[in-house]
Amino acid sequence: MSTKITEECINCGACEPECPNTAIYAGGVQYEYEGKMHDALSADFYYIVPEKCTECVGHFDQEQCAAVCPVDCCVPDPDRVESEEALFGRAKLIHPEREFAQLGPATSHFQKV
Ligand code: SF4
Ligand code: SF4
Repeated sequence: MSTKITEECINCGACEPECPNTAIYAGGVQYEYEGKMHDALSADFYYIVPEKCTECVGHFDQEQCAAVCPVDCCVPDPDRVESEEALFGRAKLIHPEREFAQLGPATSHFQKV
C-alpha cells in the first residue's frame, strides 16, 4: 500500500527530504520516474508517486513522511494495498546499487512488534 498525502497538506515541505525513494514532490512540480519526467500528480499540495513509494520498507521502521508531517496528512492509501514482499522488491528496483539486508523490525513496519 502506497502512502498518500491528503488535501490537509499545508505545503511545509518537511516530508520531501525524508523520503528514501525520492517519491515526494511539491505541488505542480514534475516528477522523475524510470529516467523520464512526468506531469505533477497534484497542482496544489505535495504528492507521493505511488510507483516510487515503498512505505519505507527496506529503509526504516515507519513511514518517514508520516513521522515528520505536522498535520498527519501522510496516510496509507486503501486503494493501493501491497504486500511487504512487493514493496521490498520495489525498494531493490529503485536502488539497484544497494545490497539490502533481510528485512527486520528496523527496516519494515510490517515486522514491528
Ligand atoms: S512512506 Fe516512505 S517511501 Fe513512501 S513516500 Fe513516505 S517517506 Fe517516501
Ligand atoms: S510534511 Fe505534511 S504538511 Fe508538510 S508538505 Fe509534507 S505532507 Fe504536506
